[in-house]
Amino acid sequence: MAASKSTNTYNRQNWEDAEFPILCQTCLGDNPYVRMTKEKYGKECKICARPFTIFRWCPGARMRFKKTEVCQTCSKVKNCCQTCLLDLEYGLPLQVRDAALSIKDDMPKSDVNKEYYTQNMEREIANSDGTQAVGAVGKSQSPSDLLLKLARTTPYYKRNRPHICSFWVKGECKRGEECPYRHEKPTDPDDPLADQNIKDRFYGVNDPVAHKLLNRAATMPKLEAPEDRTITTLYVGGLGDKISEKDLRDHFYQFGEIRSINVVARQQCAFVQFTTRQSSELAAERSFNKLIMNGRRLNIKWGRSQAQQALMGKKDGEFKDIVQLEPVPGLPGALPLPPTDGGDEGSRNYFNLPQHPPPLMPPPMPHLVSMPPPPGYTGPPPPLPGFPRLPPPLRPPGFPPSTTTQPSQQQAVHYPSQDPQRMGAVQQS
Ligand SMILES: [Zn+2]
Ligand SMILES: [Zn+2]
Ligand SMILES: [Zn+2]
Repeated sequence: MAASKSTNTYNRQNWEDAEFPILCQTCLGDNPYVRMTKEKYGKECKICARPFTIFRWCPGARMRFKKTEVCQTCSKVKNCCQTCLLDLEYGLPLQVRDAALSIKDDMPKSDVNKEYYTQNMEREIANSDGTQAVGAVGKSQSPSDLLLKLARTTPYYKRNRPHICSFWVKGECKRGEECPYRHEKPTDPDDPLADQNIKDRFYGVNDPVAHKLLNRAATMPKLEAPEDRTITTLYVGGLGDKISEKDLRDHFYQFGEIRSINVVARQQCAFVQFTTRQSSELAAERSFNKLIMNGRRLNIKWGRSQAQQALMGKKDGEFKDIVQLEPVPGLPGALPLPPTDGGDEGSRNYFNLPQHPPPLMPPPMPHLVSMPPPPGYTGPPPPLPGFPRLPPPLRPPGFPPSTTTQPSQQQAVHYPSQDPQRMGAVQQS
């Protein structure tokens, strides 16, 4: 519902008059002295269509000017940035966040229902202490593994760059160095990421970026535990210089008793050894790709066994060897063995595909089937698979042709790969 400054004043007490925008770190930029302009009731919110206070600012050198796009009520209801609509806590598209926290909120999209909903939400916001999100987001569960895996840990200022110069793309930009837009090749216009709709992003539906992220989460590698059950040590890499042994202990003690923590400051890594394998497996599962400390995502791998470490001694190269010899994350593990009691069908199932019941198999081509000889037949035995076929023995004229060997048809098979018995189309008795 459109509401302008001049008309429709009955509801004006609900119009937003904010002192400061609700923004994510990326949109705010890296300049701590950022200057903003403020325009009261400058535009209508792109979601609820009520006038709201617009802020404009430049988020850093050679960045484009940004402004708030949705009102603060809409931003608080979804706990998102007023400009980029990404979740304020994890920096993720709302569709990803809602999927990860199983948030189901059926926000009304028709005008009257939307107004009613917004009023209710405003009342809820007024009654809350401001530390918790309202609506379905506030009632959601604690952060899930998915969120921790995908969460952005540092601001992504590249997102604030100017848009691509459309004149330059056509080869017509005369502004040269002065041009405030980017002189870069545009991304593929068919790229779904180039086509985003602010309403879809807010309501968390059909968001191409969210689809991409969710797909990425589904294909993320898993950390395989080593076969050697005596290994209870985890390698923690990418510590930087601010994370101490105490920080690591504070995180890892929840998984079980820790035998030792060795921090190798020079390599910015640490080895955390647990007393039991169970605790180390739990710690690996809960920390791999998810452990974020001091704004850094730490790299978790399995360590080597004690025997291997003792063999190498305390040489200088110990650390490097440990890192190189670990199992590479992402490689598939050993394939499971085929079932041994599956009989003929089981041994042919090379790719571990789901087994089809025999009736589903296509019937063998009738002219390729070699029938078993009838009882009492004393002719030449059928050739062994793989052996070159001999011409049929000469028969005296008038000799009744054999009904079983079918020489002309058997000779149609030239190669072992065409032999129906070798292809497995015919059950070998
Ligand atoms: Zn709004
Ligand atoms: Zn933002
Ligand atoms: Zn240009």
